[in-house]
Amino acid sequence: MPEQTRETTSAVAGPLLHLGCPSCGARLVVEPALRTTRCPYCAAPSVVERPRVPGVPEPVFALGFALTHTSAREHVARWLRTRSRFTRSGIRSAKPDEVRGVYVPAYLYSVLAHARFSASIGENYQVQETYTTTENGKTVTRTRTVTHTEWRPLRGELSTYVPDVLVTASTGLRNEELEALEPFDLRVLARYSPALISGWVAEEPSLSREQCLELARREAVERMGERLERFMPGDSHRELSHEARLEWEALDVCLLPVWVLAVRYAEGAPPLRVLVNGQTGEVHGKAPISVWKVVLAVLVVVLLVAAGWLASGGAR
Ligand SMILES: [Zn+2]
Repeated sequence: MPEQTRETTSAVAGPLLHLGCPSCGARLVVEPALRTTRCPYCAAPSVVERPRVPGVPEPVFALGFALTHTSAREHVARWLRTRSRFTRSGIRSAKPDEVRGVYVPAYLYSVLAHARFSASIGENYQVQETYTTTENGKTVTRTRTVTHTEWRPLRGELSTYVPDVLVTASTGLRNEELEALEPFDLRVLARYSPALISGWVAEEPSLSREQCLELARREAVERMGERLERFMPGDSHRELSHEARLEWEALDVCLLPVWVLAVRYAEGAPPLRVLVNGQTGEVHGKAPISVWKVVLAVLVVVLLVAAGWLASGGAR
């Protein structure tokens, strides 16, 4: 697949081709020369040309691929090799050559978050306690140090800037999958230009801006919560709750470099997706386990134990 490794910065020649996958809903954008009939996300062989969807937001930023096709293939091959022997047939023998580079659309979100919080703060203090015990049959009095915690309520406000929240804008790639591939190095974020995706498959945002904003806000509030956890004074705390108000939101479409290998290993089963972060080489995938292989292995062990028992005299 030489076009995947081609490094080119030439301007895109001619109009882009808009393709759609009826199976997973991915909306691909490719140069006419890269016309494909197989979906890179789900390996469905029914990708068709579709009309341009009006109102789809243009990417603002993009991260380039740093990992070549050869390296991506090696990462995938190693991942496949190291799967458990109970993995369903057809997965360990999948062809890593078919890994494809896709510019996955995501939303990059940043916000200024103000939180009002309340918590119980615990301060530890030590006291000497006397107690009686029995030593060599005699009752003796001893002292020991015991730690107690005093709890006092705390209320307050904390404002913090939450930058670089990434959420998927693709129906092909779920947000958990994107999270598993993170972090991306956003220091090398570039302004998007069509030349950047030349020679690659790109996807248009297929999730609505509102859906993505909802996801991004939730993630930002979660991060705010983590910041508050670290901010709490005292030796310990409990019952921390907070209410966040968000201000100065920014939400931009950003293209992320991801190598994808989609494997259809069984009729009717959802495809297995092996994903590689196109910057760092981080691999993510969930190989399904074959129930039959596990049952068979358990049976073999049971039989071996039974055979051993019989051989050693068994039920005499
Ligand atoms: Zn698909």
